[in-house]
Amino acid sequence: MRRTGKILNVANHDRDSAALGYVYPVVSRRAGGVSVGINLNTNNACNWRCIYCQVPDLTRGAAPTVDLVVLENELRDFLNELLHGDFMQSRVPESARRINDIALSGNGEPTSSAEFVQVIELIARVRREVALPETVKTVLITNGSLLYRGEVQQGLRAMAKLNGEVWFKLDRASEAGMQHVNDTRTSMNKVRDNLIAAIACCPTWLQTCWFALDGEPPSRQDEDDYLEFVSALLHDGHKPQGVLLYSLARSSMQAEAPRLSALPAEHLQAFADRIGKLGLPVKFSP
Ligand code: SF4
Repeated sequence: MRRTGKILNVANHDRDSAALGYVYPVVSRRAGGVSVGINLNTNNACNWRCIYCQVPDLTRGAAPTVDLVVLENELRDFLNELLHGDFMQSRVPESARRINDIALSGNGEPTSSAEFVQVIELIARVRREVALPETVKTVLITNGSLLYRGEVQQGLRAMAKLNGEVWFKLDRASEAGMQHVNDTRTSMNKVRDNLIAAIACCPTWLQTCWFALDGEPPSRQDEDDYLEFVSALLHDGHKPQGVLLYSLARSSMQAEAPRLSALPAEHLQAFADRIGKLGLPVKFSP
């Protein structure tokens, strides 16, 4: 593991910044500390193609077979380094020298891994071994599309015991909107079923990217669709923890990149206010 090099910051999410295969450190502006990322999609494959996606050379597909021994060793070694080595002092700005979470994220959809359940089990094992404080969360950043699978739900239930949180992507709440932004064909009924499954298994936040396309912010209809979808969910007793609302922090690596731009903070705040009226907390980063 490299011990010297550039100080990490919010713009430096280089998956190779600790010179490991699956595990990478990120200083997260949303989480406010060091996030220990786990990238299961080392082949840059996802079943969606969001137009703001930052994954280079993104391809359609699933995660490759995970080498669980390598992953477990990397995670154990890196957590020990963070807890007992000099990585924090040498690589992390002083204001962010705490471990915030272990985050299953990376270059594609993590739940597409056939080893997803085993990965959660090994995270539990390593957390115990290195005596990671219980306050450190285990976060799954997911597009939610595979949550109907029994084994994924099993993994989420195990995550819930590890101070788990699911960040479930919901950028638009209409079929046309999802096709446009996420380049996926799905029905809102399926999205709703997947989201209900996530909420039943583990505390779940909605993760919503709100940005301008060709200079135009999302329409009032986009906002209304979103609010109606969430409102119906709440009405039926399925309550997410809240909404993580954000705009573009880094450049898209997709062909649409030149057409995308971040929204001003006031715009996000106005939408956050509308969501807040449903009784859900909203955390947002301009
Ligand atoms: S779901 Fe995530 S990894 Fe997949 S295309 Fe969208 S942003 Fe990229």
